[in-house]
Amino acid sequence: MSRLKIAAGNWKMNKTFEEGLELAKSLSEKTSANGALMILGTPFIHLKSVCDALKDSDHIKVAAQNCSQEISGAYTGETSVDMIASVGAEYVILGHSERREYFKESDALLASKTDRVLAKGLIPIFCCGEPLSIREAGTHVAHVKAQLEGGLFHLDEDSFSKIVIAYEPIWAIGTGVTASPEQAQEMQKAIRDLLAEKYGKDVAEGTSILYGGSVKPGNAKELFSQPDVDGGLVGGASLKADDFAAIYGSF
Ligand code: PEP
Repeated sequence: MSRLKIAAGNWKMNKTFEEGLELAKSLSEKTSANGALMILGTPFIHLKSVCDALKDSDHIKVAAQNCSQEISGAYTGETSVDMIASVGAEYVILGHSERREYFKESDALLASKTDRVLAKGLIPIFCCGEPLSIREAGTHVAHVKAQLEGGLFHLDEDSFSKIVIAYEPIWAIGTGVTASPEQAQEMQKAIRDLLAEKYGKDVAEGTSILYGGSVKPGNAKELFSQPDVDGGLVGGASLKADDFAAIYGSF
């Protein structure tokens, strides 16, 4: 079964409004559809203008980096899924390790956010991954399994089949240390096996599982050629048009 290949960029808290718009336009100019999807995870401030700039693109979509679990109301500083959808974004990154660590987002909270995103017809890019201590202890599969169980496995099969998963070993995020293609493949195969156990082979085979952690133009091709690596969630290298265009071109 063929799965959607995706190069998703996570800009985090980088780029002024003008710089972000310039980056999006530049990516649009430098790339053309190759069968894979490019997703730009921009700050909230940039979402509408980036969506507008890319509205005619057939291969670039836009993601928010977070959302509220609440529908609307007195939640100062929060952004709802209605707001995100109303400007044309179609994806929401959930459960990034920085949000889990710095903003104390729990599996239960992420399960609520996942429900909210799906109910609005948006697509979650659900992040999971282990810290170095867990990897060294050899319990990384169990750690990721618990994250999937806590955040996603309450979903029924139909809802789950809309999810994109990003496996991001924390020890490889922003560190310049990339998981080897073999490490990424081994873990992503283990994740796909967990999905097959829970939802059956067809759903597991149809789920895009991205790798994240120091993906660069120089290593993307080898990582993306692994059978269970369906693309990447990219931080640092998604901030440079040439680099991210090259990563998109690696499929
Ligand atoms: C990320 O933030 O999701 C990420 C993988 O960052 P980087 O590519 O910079 O390691």
